[in-house]
Amino acid sequence: MSRRMALHWQILIAMVLGIIVGIGARNLGFDMSSAFVFMLRLGADIFLKLLSMIVVPLVFSSVIVSVAGIGDAAHVGRMGGKTGAYYLITSFLAVVTGLLIVNLINPGVGSEIAKIAGGGLGGHSIQTPESLWTVLSRIVPRNPVEALANFDMISSIFFAIVFGIFANFLKPRRRVLIVDIADGIFEIMMHMARFIIKLAPIGVFCLVSKLMIATGFLAFKSLGLYVITVMIGLIFHFCITLPFILWVRTGVSPIRFAKAMSPALLTAFSTASSAATLSMTMECAKDRAGVSDKVSSFVLPMGATVNMDGTALYECVAVMFIAQVYGIDLSFTQQIIVVFTTVLASIGTAAVPHAGLVMMVIVLNAVGLPAEATGIILAVDRVLDMTRTMTNVWSDSVGAAVIAAAEGERIKISTVL
Ligand code: ASP
Repeated sequence: MSRRMALHWQILIAMVLGIIVGIGARNLGFDMSSAFVFMLRLGADIFLKLLSMIVVPLVFSSVIVSVAGIGDAAHVGRMGGKTGAYYLITSFLAVVTGLLIVNLINPGVGSEIAKIAGGGLGGHSIQTPESLWTVLSRIVPRNPVEALANFDMISSIFFAIVFGIFANFLKPRRRVLIVDIADGIFEIMMHMARFIIKLAPIGVFCLVSKLMIATGFLAFKSLGLYVITVMIGLIFHFCITLPFILWVRTGVSPIRFAKAMSPALLTAFSTASSAATLSMTMECAKDRAGVSDKVSSFVLPMGATVNMDGTALYECVAVMFIAQVYGIDLSFTQQIIVVFTTVLASIGTAAVPHAGLVMMVIVLNAVGLPAEATGIILAVDRVLDMTRTMTNVWSDSVGAAVIAAAEGERIKISTVL
């Protein structure tokens, strides 16, 4: 009986092979300019580009179909309200988890790392993020085509929602035509997503081995306790808080749901980008986890952009760690400020690699810590980025199931995974 190995196993094996091959090649002295690494880079780049290629048409068409399908603006508002509430509640839970754990472990107390890093950037430069007001005002695009072309997800989604709502004002014949076209584009994108998902094992292998050759395990040593603190927080949120919410609100088994979403989760881990993973997340939620088109098309694109529990948790722990390293005791009020600014910063974080580190500067500013302090934790950001992105995507997926249940849908997880 020959049955193809399940996709998530293929991806996991590719990841392990990637680590082995990457570390082996690093020890054999392959550097970033060798032909072998060039091949890996090519594979990784093409995979990432294929993933990104379908995001804009997918988001645009799916949001229009979903919003126009929901019907009146009041219903869109209600579903938006529930979705927003879910995003905020889970982000707050994540940050509070991070805050408790960092206060318990105190990874930065007595650390010499500030001296080693000289408090400086060690040759790295850090961009300053825009202020929160600029981020808020950017929600409304000046030109929707420009927003789409620039991969500006929040304003593209805003325009698509408004477009979908106003499509309901058209005469039925026209409305059907517009929605049919959007639906057709959406279906084509989903077919492409199904094809790209099959390439995931190869793409993941290239990404992971390339990363291993570039960084190895070295970076871990000096910042071990900090990495462990963030990881414990993320694992707690991933394995306890979110599954509990899923189970209570939907009655679905978290393990089965995680299995259904696993190709997307593993891709999130390897790419460190919720945006690049979005097509996979939608494909898994729809085809494997059985969440309706209407809900997943509405909740997931928005979630990939604004709902970042993992990022919020990480930013909170990182800021507290930096304060500890500098020997600064943040008061209770300052810690509350950290909690609120972290949730806001995570909402404004772009769904691309390392964006969380950049946005963290907002939180550092809010409590009077220097932006350059991010230089201290830069070395280990990649592995934390991978883990927090996986948590971000998991929270989006659980959100889709929770909102589907709130809309009275039954979630039917596919039995053949
Ligand atoms: N890489 C994360 C994401 O795409 C954002 C971050 O850097 O925290 O979800």
